[in-house]
Amino acid sequence: MIRIYNTLTRKKEDFIPLEEGKVRMYVCGPTVYNFIHIGNARPMIVFDTVRRYMEHKGYQVNFVSNFTDVDDKIIKKALEEGVPAEEISKRYIEECKKDMEGMNIMPATTHPLATQEIDGMIDMIAALIDKGYAYAVNGTVYYRTRRFAEYGKLSHKNLDDLQGGNRSLLVSGEEEKEDPLDFVLWKPKKEGEPYWVSPWGEGRPGWHIECSVMSKKYLGEQIDIHGGGEDLVFPHHENEIAQSEACSGCEFARYWMHNAFLNIDNKKMSKSLGNFFTVREISEKYDLQILRFFMLNAHYRSPLNFSADLMEASKNALERILTAVDNLYFLSEHTSVAEMTAEEAKKAEEAKRYEQAFDASMDDDFNTADAIAAVFDLVKYANTCAKEESSKAFLDTLRKRIQDLCGILGIITEKKAELLDEEVEHMIEERQAARKAKDFARADEIRGLLLEKGIILEDTREGVKWKRA
Ligand code: AMP
Ligand code: ZN
Repeated sequence: MIRIYNTLTRKKEDFIPLEEGKVRMYVCGPTVYNFIHIGNARPMIVFDTVRRYMEHKGYQVNFVSNFTDVDDKIIKKALEEGVPAEEISKRYIEECKKDMEGMNIMPATTHPLATQEIDGMIDMIAALIDKGYAYAVNGTVYYRTRRFAEYGKLSHKNLDDLQGGNRSLLVSGEEEKEDPLDFVLWKPKKEGEPYWVSPWGEGRPGWHIECSVMSKKYLGEQIDIHGGGEDLVFPHHENEIAQSEACSGCEFARYWMHNAFLNIDNKKMSKSLGNFFTVREISEKYDLQILRFFMLNAHYRSPLNFSADLMEASKNALERILTAVDNLYFLSEHTSVAEMTAEEAKKAEEAKRYEQAFDASMDDDFNTADAIAAVFDLVKYANTCAKEESSKAFLDTLRKRIQDLCGILGIITEKKAELLDEEVEHMIEERQAARKAKDFARADEIRGLLLEKGIILEDTREGVKWKRA
């Protein structure tokens, strides 16, 4: 039985899906105005791993994650570059998808775009007005927060405390609101901004209504899991609940999951402090598998610190797994024994306890840190059991078990495809050209790149010769 920590109840609860064998899951996606940073990568990796584990357990997962492609930050960037907002969002959605692929994040069942769902948003806003949960003033539509009796149930906030904290809003030009707690569902257009026609005038939707509408359209009125970073609990998710539940009259999401933040050198990562890395920057130095592995080494509800040292440690740790897999492949290719002996069968049976430990950790609110410890225990066991004289069947069983567990975490353990002969020849030609141009740095770099891929060069009197290591 999978147990999930539910932000709503602040308890770990047994996971019981709405529909047997199926999981409906919505994860708030990024606002696409720039390359994603490694903080944005954390919920992507965490919830992709949740999805993979659910699938491993036999569930059919309908996974929806949006791209917020209309927003102040996108508009600002578009104005800076002098291009339409759409060009900015399209560009960064493409870049984000490349990063996701590098981190081995499965594409969602649906990746809706806010700008393609405006009609649904207008419908939901109109329904909220009809039910008395929203009102329009001068082209803006507000949600009447106090009308929703359960407001605050997710963030465990009390309306009167919020009222005190929000008083300053009264003097910030929002005096047309009935109550400072009310939030925006639709806002009128400003000069030069993208807009859509609505019953309340030309304008664009607020951010919160987006997720309520897309979740309903692609998953239905009730969903199993709603996820995102912990900064979204309030007000974003609280407002999603207010909108969706006022509209449908039923509970919106059963389990609310939130990942803790990623910090850098023990400080909050933020654009204003300038201490953030994009995933793209990290990919120039590391295989993004290492970033994924690094993230999964912590439980998703624990704050995680990013540093160069910790990345190096993750790189070495992952290398131990990959080496073990390589070694098992090598022994299997060279052994002359095919069938498992009785003793090996017993050992293979014993090794199942590591898979059980892995599942037990993942069942316990997706404790990937402990699950990875179980993978290392299995690796250690395989390293001691695997011998030159072991049977192929035994070696392959051990290898496959390691690879299956890594696969559930989204870690690829297959060897990278070898360079083709012609690719090697091509790189050698490029190196010769660099040497001729006296660009020895480039020539050395190419030699290094080839060496990394297991190609050894030898400069001889007859020219360059190469062999595989
Ligand atoms: P945004 O593009 O700001 O809407 O963020 C997209 C997702 O990334 C949300 O789920 C955020 O909660 C999450 N997020 C942003 N910064 C961090 C961070 N430093 N650590 C973890 N998650 C983050
Ligand atoms: Zn959302």
